[in-house]
Amino acid sequence: MTDFAPDIDRLKQLDDAEWLSVQRAYCGRLFAFARRRLTDRQASEDVLQETWLGAVRGIGDFDPRYTFEQYLFGICRNRTIDALRRRKPRTLERGGEEEDLPGIEVLATDSETPSRILRREELGARAKELLVAVLKDWVEETWTAGEFQRLMVFEALIGGGWRNRDAWKHFGLRDETTVAGIKFRALKRLRELAAVRESGGDLLTALERSSEGEEHALDLDLRPLWREGRVSCPSRHWLARLVAGNLPAEPAAYVRFHLDTMKCPWCRANHDDLLEAERNDALDPLVERVHKSTVLYLRSRTLP
Ligand SMILES: [Zn+2]
Repeated sequence: MTDFAPDIDRLKQLDDAEWLSVQRAYCGRLFAFARRRLTDRQASEDVLQETWLGAVRGIGDFDPRYTFEQYLFGICRNRTIDALRRRKPRTLERGGEEEDLPGIEVLATDSETPSRILRREELGARAKELLVAVLKDWVEETWTAGEFQRLMVFEALIGGGWRNRDAWKHFGLRDETTVAGIKFRALKRLRELAAVRESGGDLLTALERSSEGEEHALDLDLRPLWREGRVSCPSRHWLARLVAGNLPAEPAAYVRFHLDTMKCPWCRANHDDLLEAERNDALDPLVERVHKSTVLYLRSRTLP
């Protein structure tokens, strides 16, 4: 089961059949994303409708640096935040404890962090892009080598902002030095990966600084980059294998860690959707309703 790759040009031409295909492919995970946060079915369905209208309206400006799924989740997240804001304005402003409420504080703070990173460290947009690319290279290399524990430890430190001590305890490693060693080697490898890329220079300086200090001393707050860049997200194919129970133990442990401990919102939405699809195929009427409203919009744009 590979993930669906839409024809963006046909979507831009507002091709009805292509929009129906992407709705079939993506409705479930978007609905699961909204549902986990809004809990109420009708409100989640409204968000889904608004997400698709937003997607159709915005497709002309689709940025090919992102995947189509990232594009949809971005819109869906904003619509979900709007829906939650309408519902309980005070809770949202309070911020703070990430896991108190079903996901909304995470959403709210995530969308604010880029400006915060900019204040902490003047890393340009280009450098951020490079950093995400280099982190992805590292993850791929580590995954291919079957070094899943290394991957988990580094994700916990970088993507989760854990302290060495917490990682040491959580993973039952020999001592904190083991954690420091994993981090040290990973940062060294990241510098090598950055060096072979064009204009990896400013990145090198930033990474240089971040590996000088001791415990938890990254100058850069890489958490939002890790999460928003979907640096370590397993493809939907791996999530499907996990659901089907035919993923080998080691990658399965990693995927569970990413879902349950790192609580990746995008992968959780995919995973919820896949579990739901296992249970029944009640999605069809939902896709139909969503598509109807999109079709009205498409017609209004394409008919003379
Ligand atoms: Zn993920």
